[in-house]
Amino acid sequence: MDLGWTDIQIRRLKELNAATDELQTDFRGEHGRNRAFQVLEKQLVRKERERLNTFLDNQLRPRLCTLESHLITALNREGFTQVTTPTIISQNDLSRMSIDKKHPFNDQIYWIDSRRCLRPMLAPSLYRLMKDLARIRTRRAVRIFEIGSCFRKETSGARHASEFTMLNLVEMRMPMEDRKARIEALAGVIMKAAGINAYCLMGESSEVYDETIDIVCGSKKLEVASCAMGPHPLDDAWEIVDTWVGLGFGLERLLMTREGNRSIGKWCRSTSYVDGIRLNL
Ligand code: ATP
Ligand code: MG
Repeated sequence: MDLGWTDIQIRRLKELNAATDELQTDFRGEHGRNRAFQVLEKQLVRKERERLNTFLDNQLRPRLCTLESHLITALNREGFTQVTTPTIISQNDLSRMSIDKKHPFNDQIYWIDSRRCLRPMLAPSLYRLMKDLARIRTRRAVRIFEIGSCFRKETSGARHASEFTMLNLVEMRMPMEDRKARIEALAGVIMKAAGINAYCLMGESSEVYDETIDIVCGSKKLEVASCAMGPHPLDDAWEIVDTWVGLGFGLERLLMTREGNRSIGKWCRSTSYVDGIRLNL
């Protein structure tokens, strides 16, 4: 009977960035398989050690940070200004996003105490800024973005992390009929800066926004971003009256897509991986 790798072997080979064809091999018997595993593991460990040395001596920055720099440059070029808002937000801001104790999303929130939590998204703080910037800069376009950690309790693993890096950009005051085209154009700017050519936009239902336009990649349709537009029912709570479009990207999902990796863990903030290299080498 032909045998494949055991689950433990597969996990180890994936950690070591084995290629897809290396994961699919069949063997005649256990002995041959286990010997082949030892040989392959040794080769992969050697390769990963070389990659680690290159990272430490020459590359010097993780791809997560380089991606962030490329995105900032591309957005500045498009006239977007970077902002930084707090990682800890109030329950009041969440409830203005319609997320109250009964909302399904409430179970995913990391509460610090009864009134404050780690932000699960950047939108509440950007809504606050949009309101003030729109008031102060009458009739002019407002374009802002933030990149920062967000926190969610998740149940599924390979594409979800409890801490991930979100890019959220918002543009206000375009003609109503231009909003969809603007989302498409901005999606193009970000995907180009991220080095990803193949993606598509599709309509999706959302717990917070009702409906979003999602950017998905690959045969498994990995969601890398969700986009929304206003006027939107949530706008009232923030006293927003203008048109807007907003796009929210997960940077680790962009890296997963571009680098062809199967699991998000390699790209997250971690003490087990640096720049996608597992440290138990
Ligand atoms: P999913 O349906 O994949 O759980 P979502 O629709 O809940 O994602 P959004 O609220 O739309 O996520 O967040 C915007 C983007 O942030 C997502 O498109 C994704 O790229 C990223 N993202 C969301 N949750 C996570 C997570 N737990 N880990 C990593 N990235 C995430
Ligand atoms: Mg989404």
